[in-house]
Amino acid sequence: MTTRYLRLLATLTLATCTLVQLGGCASSPLGRSQLVLFPESRLAEMGTLAYQDLRTQTPASTDGRANDYVSCVANAIIDANPELSKQPWEITLFDSDQANAFALPGGKLGVYTGMLGVAENQDQLAAVIGHEFAHVVAQHGNERVSTSFATQTGLQIAAIAAGGASETKNQLFSLLGVGAEVGIALPFGRAQETESDLIGLDYMAKAGFRPSEASNLWRNMSKQQGGNTQPSFLSTHPAAEDRIQRLDERTVSAEVLATNARRAGRSPNCG
Ligand SMILES: [Zn+2]
Repeated sequence: MTTRYLRLLATLTLATCTLVQLGGCASSPLGRSQLVLFPESRLAEMGTLAYQDLRTQTPASTDGRANDYVSCVANAIIDANPELSKQPWEITLFDSDQANAFALPGGKLGVYTGMLGVAENQDQLAAVIGHEFAHVVAQHGNERVSTSFATQTGLQIAAIAAGGASETKNQLFSLLGVGAEVGIALPFGRAQETESDLIGLDYMAKAGFRPSEASNLWRNMSKQQGGNTQPSFLSTHPAAEDRIQRLDERTVSAEVLATNARRAGRSPNCG
């Protein structure tokens, strides 16, 4: 594993030297300009490596019913959105009390059993999963890796690569947005989180889930935690009131998507 990560880092560094000169400006699905330097295939490789590693660290849940529930919600969203269904997705329910979830380039989704205690119904779970899918489609991992390599942090990562494999690995994890899960506080940026909230809302709506439950999820999390003791999933994301307001504003248009989806026969019933 060590050698693979070092080789990956070396390739990324070389690629940056070439690509920075060519420029790498792209636009997110909501029109925000992004620095995206690496081919999707490279990010898919990184995502797959990170996923394999996480799977060796955290056991998968053996609860058949819970696994079916998560797969049912995730597959309903995938099937309803061509941006997602263009590739196969591997779905894992991790046995961990963390109220967390993540998705990675390369078609990988991870949900932690702790999230099932916070998301009160299938629609709230759909909001979480839609949000994580949106990070991948909007290339937020690529953006973070690109920005990192175009700045001093990239040099630091290259230096770490020469010295310690586990630190290197953790850096890659956090750039891909699984930082919170492995205990490193390097979340996606505020703009990326907001973007994923809104894109994710449309994803769940197009699958026929109830968009109004997205903001309810955040109300629940906020209520459940209170005070300053936020769970990692919440602390790495925008302030609860901000995101609730933005989600509520977009819920009107999302309801139209959901109504159309149900008319077209998309009425998920995952339990
Ligand atoms: Zn997020």
